[in-house]
Amino acid sequence: MPALIQCHLFMSSARSSVTPEKLIRPEILALHAYHVPPASGMIKLDAMENPYLLPQALRDEIARLVADAQINRYPDAGAHQLKADIRKVTNLPAGMEVLLGNGSDEIIQLLAMAVDKPGATILSVEPSFVMYKMIATFIGMNYVGVPLAQDFSLDLPAMLEAIKREQPALVFLAYPNNPTGNLFDADAIKQIIQAAPGLVVVDEAYYAFARDSFIPHLAQYENLLVMRTFSKLGMAGLRLGFLAGSTAWLAQLEKLRLPYNVGVLPQLVAAKLLEHHDVLLAQADSIKQERTKLLAALSAISGVQTYPSEANFILLRVAKATQIFEGLKQRGVLIKNLNGGHPALADCLRVTVGTPEENQTFVAALQDTINQLA
Ligand SMILES: *Cc1c(COP(=O)(O)O)cnc(C)c1O
Repeated sequence: MPALIQCHLFMSSARSSVTPEKLIRPEILALHAYHVPPASGMIKLDAMENPYLLPQALRDEIARLVADAQINRYPDAGAHQLKADIRKVTNLPAGMEVLLGNGSDEIIQLLAMAVDKPGATILSVEPSFVMYKMIATFIGMNYVGVPLAQDFSLDLPAMLEAIKREQPALVFLAYPNNPTGNLFDADAIKQIIQAAPGLVVVDEAYYAFARDSFIPHLAQYENLLVMRTFSKLGMAGLRLGFLAGSTAWLAQLEKLRLPYNVGVLPQLVAAKLLEHHDVLLAQADSIKQERTKLLAALSAISGVQTYPSEANFILLRVAKATQIFEGLKQRGVLIKNLNGGHPALADCLRVTVGTPEENQTFVAALQDTINQLA
């Protein structure tokens, strides 16, 4: 062992009685790390990924781009080319800007950090995307989750009441919602935007599968921001999300963004893929068609209750969800077990729409598991 390292080890062991328990904030000690289960060799239907590969010609183009990429240089901190492409494919209204994140998860964190005054609150609905609450906890903000109605629609009176009571700095609404899959009523969202004293962020992670958007309404509401990710559209591995809104807001948020949060390769590859946006949208269309077939197949299984979906996944309720989840895993199919999380999701499972073959394998494995447990 080199003497220098030896000396360091010696010094730290001699002096230090500090432990994580003493130093780390109690709310962080109490957290469970976001669990990503191993999936090697499995049919992976747990994470809302696009199951399709890109056409070979496009993959070759990307290979050439990557070969010539200047990875010895820091990335373009302003990501000018990529932002221009995003403006184009989103039809961004005049006067609006985009801010890029390392996935939209990073944008949620950035928004929270920006408004984190003492006592500030993040409000969302429940059940919804768990990151809203997790990030509020990470940075020590209050979090309020307003229960959805029984059918997972927005409970507008309860929302308006909670907004009045809590005066949230930030409201997050996933449109469509994850993990329920439904699209909330657009007029109810507009009433929420008007009633909110702070920012309302409409999270359009599943935009490609619903094709309804609040981006055209950005100019109408000064407290509205729209967030999207490319993860569910076929670029989960690139880690790229964006926030769209007026320059007044985004100029402030830009100050908090780490300058090189989107690397050279993600910028290059995403810009190339956005040139071929039609390819990705065609894949999204196939996924939507498969969603219809999968929903029909699942609804035909007795003991399976399905929920309507405008996203690339389906929420289902079964008896003995955890046993069924384990049975599927033994049969090589990984989905998401929501049982034991939010009470409204008792005995619920969430399955991502895969390729036709993957979906057939899943349905057969589900039927087989149910038969075996009966
Ligand atoms: C998947 C998801 C995101 C985050 O996606 P990133 O991969 O971090 O861009 C954000 N919101 C919702 C509702 C999601 O389901």
